[in-house]
Amino acid sequence: MYDFAYHKPTSVADAVKLLAADPDARPISGGHTLLPALKHRLNKPSSVVDLSGIAELKGIRREGDRIVIGAMAKHKEIAESAEVQAAIPALAKMAGSIGDIQVRNRGTIGGSVANNDPAADYPAAVLALGATVVTSKRRIAADEFFQGMFTTALQPDELLVAIEFPVPQRAGYAKMRNPASRYVMAGAFVAKIADGVRVAINGAGPGVFRQKAMEAALSANWSPDAVANIKQPADGLNSDIHGSAEYRAHLVTVMAKRAVADAG
Ligand SMILES: Cc1cc2nc3c(=O)[nH]c(=O)nc-3n(C[C@H](O)[C@H](O)[C@H](O)COP(=O)(O)OP(=O)(O)OC[C@H]3O[C@@H](n4cnc5c(N)ncnc54)[C@H](O)[C@@H]3O)c2cc1C
Repeated sequence: MYDFAYHKPTSVADAVKLLAADPDARPISGGHTLLPALKHRLNKPSSVVDLSGIAELKGIRREGDRIVIGAMAKHKEIAESAEVQAAIPALAKMAGSIGDIQVRNRGTIGGSVANNDPAADYPAAVLALGATVVTSKRRIAADEFFQGMFTTALQPDELLVAIEFPVPQRAGYAKMRNPASRYVMAGAFVAKIADGVRVAINGAGPGVFRQKAMEAALSANWSPDAVANIKQPADGLNSDIHGSAEYRAHLVTVMAKRAVADAG
């Protein structure tokens, strides 16, 4: 680990000031991704801005037809939230399926969504539910937020503050885990919201993406059979020692079918 300065502000405004004053500063939430990167000297921030003392980033609440989840909400809190369980059970179940108990006790939704690992779970829920990412500067629609592998619309001095999820009529999620790492090989989150049907695929490609052919099929007929014969092209999907692009393409259809069945 290289040396760095450590700051622990107590407001979003103060955190943003620290980030704006130093282009090499990095925010840290649970540290589950950033700390290993620092330990392995893969990242060399001049200072680290710890977000854990900022009350504005915490909490989960229902506001009308939306569930608002603060960036610092941990996976365990989301999994156990009565509001999330009642309004978006698929999201609570997803949060409870992430990593292991240690990961769920420290990892945060803000850190996961800001990091945008192609194999992370939440980006599929954010995209399929048509959620809005609220930052220290603006509101960003999910369709504009995710911009490819480990890349988002966030600027270096911009903090993810909360995510607003519209309460769906139906939603379901299914994933095939890598048996060693438990990260997603391919997953599908399906949702029927006021604006229509949305299907987001994670794990399979370099970033989360919408599967428009499945959205059209499910709009006409909401049933697992509607997506059973829709083939995901393998072009551009991830291919590595864990599985070929063709295998992941096959998994996309299987996971989408299971996700629709999960949604009921
Ligand atoms: C063993 C293990 C297993 C895991 N398994 C899974 C899994 O199955 N599924 C899954 O989805 N994830 C998994 N994860 C990831 C985990 O869920 C964490 O959410 C993820 O690592 C991000 O960590 P964090 O929330 O602690 O964020 P940090 O590591 O603190 O930050 C991650 C990145 O986001 C930035 N950041 C953090 N907060 C903000 C903010 N509010 N605004 C702007 N930028 C911010 C940081 O600067 C950093 O670049 C696993 C992690 C581990 C270590």
